Amino acid sequence: MTTEVHPHVELLACTPDAGTIVASAAKLCYSDADINDLVNKMSGSDTDRFLDKLTAMGHLSPIEHATFTFGVEGVSRAFLAQITRHRIASFSVKSQRYVNAENFNYVTPPAIAALGEEARARYAAQMEQMSRWYAEWNEALGNKGESSNEDARFVLPNAAETKLIVTMNARELMHFFTLRCCNRAQWEIREVAWQMFALAFRKAPYLFRCCGPSCLRGACSEGRMCCGRSAEVRARYEELTKE
Ligand SMILES: Cc1cc2nc3c(=O)[nH]c(=O)nc-3n(C[C@H](O)[C@H](O)[C@H](O)COP(=O)(O)OP(=O)(O)OC[C@H]3O[C@@H](n4cnc5c(N)ncnc54)[C@H](O)[C@@H]3O)c2cc1C
Repeated sequence: MTTEVHPHVELLACTPDAGTIVASAAKLCYSDADINDLVNKMSGSDTDRFLDKLTAMGHLSPIEHATFTFGVEGVSRAFLAQITRHRIASFSVKSQRYVNAENFNYVTPPAIAALGEEARARYAAQMEQMSRWYAEWNEALGNKGESSNEDARFVLPNAAETKLIVTMNARELMHFFTLRCCNRAQWEIREVAWQMFALAFRKAPYLFRCCGPSCLRGACSEGRMCCGRSAEVRARYEELTKE
């Protein structure tokens, strides 16, 4: 029996005291002090000042010293194809060769769910049918685990769930939030990006307060493709970042 799932993100780990590390790395570039002195003397206000200065100067490499690792579940293979385009990230993804996918979990696009119960049931029945096709091919190939899973999986849909652990440094995360929290991004990666943003912001607001789609900071960068819903984007940002 296949089961419907929804995107869910957890922050599994991040650089402890990321602000101090990033600000120390920045200060080191312009100081002849010993590294330990420099790190130990760094105060909260120094951190804020350095982070603002780095952003204003476009000197962003010190931000790469802070990394964040997320667990992502309830997402589709369609999502996987998109997030793995981000090359400055590290991924570990559930295998469709080593893990049998009969009775797979699946993601339903909200637009299909919004068509009503009949559409949702039809979609669920199609997932069941694909699960049966998968089992049929696995059996025809001898139910040999890895070697039959790897070919039976060709009849699985883009909707099939995958799970992954992804690590990005803060600079790449900022870039990711600019592209993927934007309404131009596809709904599933956008949903995951906002969940990642909320988790990262809670941990290190001084690093992430100035990121997200370009319309949060000024004019939309999408030109004639602009969604015209910057007020909605701003409201979501305010909601996720309020104390
Ligand atoms: C709304 C939207 C629609 C999209 N539609 C399509 C589509 O139709 N087809 C499609 O194929 N893709 C599509 N993409 C994916 C897009 O083309 C990028 O592959 C993806 O967003 C990753 O972005 P990136 O390359 O900037 O980021 P990353 O890979 O995360 O890289 C971060 C930055 O590092 C630098 N960098 C990384 N690697 C290199 C390199 N080899 N050379 C030079 N600089 C590098 C660049 O400055 C880059 O911006 C879409 C993305 C979005 C947001």
